[in-house]
Amino acid sequence: AKEQGRNRLVHYTAGMETQARERRELEIDLRRGLGNGEFELLYQPQVDIETGAIACYEALVRWNHPTRGTILPGSFIDMAEETGLIVPLGQWVIRAATEAAGRWPDDVRVAVNLSPAQLRDPGLLPCVIQAMASAGLSANRLELEITESVLLEDTEDNLATLHRLRDLGLRISLDDFGTGYSSLNYLRNFPFDKIKIDRCFIEGIEERGDCQAIVSAMITLAEDLGMVITAEGVETVEQLERLRLHGCRQIQGYLVARPLSAALLDAHLGLVNEA
Ligand code: C2E
Ligand code: CA
Ligand code: CA
Ligand code: CA
Repeated sequence: AKEQGRNRLVHYTAGMETQARERRELEIDLRRGLGNGEFELLYQPQVDIETGAIACYEALVRWNHPTRGTILPGSFIDMAEETGLIVPLGQWVIRAATEAAGRWPDDVRVAVNLSPAQLRDPGLLPCVIQAMASAGLSANRLELEITESVLLEDTEDNLATLHRLRDLGLRISLDDFGTGYSSLNYLRNFPFDKIKIDRCFIEGIEERGDCQAIVSAMITLAEDLGMVITAEGVETVEQLERLRLHGCRQIQGYLVARPLSAALLDAHLGLVNEA
């Protein structure tokens, strides 16, 4: 048993070393990829259930790695956040998303995900202002999606930054709503323009009474607070019908569209010149 325990320990340590090495390699690779233009934005629509009108496209980053293929944000955003690389990556995302949206019809907005480290970065406001100016995009067409984690630390500073962004005319959305610890308190602390119901509640909305009750309460709450509500991760017609029943107006998910490449999106919007 002792022998076994020791082996297990050795194994564990080796595992941790491998992990640490992999992280260092990922960091170097991320830095290189950023300089190399290996990142791309895909765009997923948020649509009005009743009219089918596209309110907004959410920008979702992808890493087109030269040897590893396409890497999803779930595999590198945390590392980018820990190393601070999220700041230059995030600034690239803001510039690329505003530039793309500058070519879209005036009633279509773009939503960008913002990490906690980006909100703490003093360069964020100048970056946003510059990006909107050079893209010719008015502030009311840019939405920033943040999660509750942003409001967990440095609350005062982060709130001040959010207020400044909002004063500029940007919209602020609360992402992944319902997955944090004290969601309702955040709704009192900041006047969000939109809340996005996390996919985990939508997943269970057909079979589970508790999910239905929670979703229904969230929709009523958002309405009473004068916020737009978007249901995330809608995959089936049954989910859509449930949401409609509960009075939800806006949805995002595979049922409507997968995240689309910028080129595909331009073609959909009729912006591509045939010649
Ligand atoms: P998120 O902001 O909650 O984005 C929604 C995620 O759900 C996206 O995953 C999207 O592709 C996926 N999704 C959309 N509809 C459906 C559906 O019907 N079913 C299922 N199963 N999934 C759906 P993705 O693109 O892999 O992004 C994952 C997370 O990475 C995002 O979650 C966001 O937190 C983060 N992220 C993505 N792009 C950026 C970025 O530019 N900056 C930062 N800071 N974070 C980003
Ligand atoms: Ca969005
Ligand atoms: Ca989001
Ligand atoms: Ca989300």
